[in-house]
Amino acid sequence: MTVQQSDLKLDGNAIGGLLREIFTMEMTTAEGTCASCGRVAMVGEVVVYVNAPGTVVRCPSCDAVLMRIVQGRGKYWLDLTGVRCLEFSA
Ligand SMILES: [Zn+2]
Repeated sequence: MTVQQSDLKLDGNAIGGLLREIFTMEMTTAEGTCASCGRVAMVGEVVVYVNAPGTVVRCPSCDAVLMRIVQGRGKYWLDLTGVRCLEFSA
């Protein structure tokens, strides 16, 4: 997998606000299970690339894509294929 030079690599806290717009609760402490390697990672510790296009969230352990978030024309597209399970507090 090639990552373009223009990509900006950040940690999961960078998407806290974006996830907050989609989900109604605090998501940086939510835990996602990677569908590829089974690693359970808090959203705050995942690897985030913006401009990829949209936002791409990768597993800190195996680098698999966990989530893709694209925002535009008043809509969100949320691809959670790489997350087997997402757990968060009510
Ligand atoms: Zn993984």
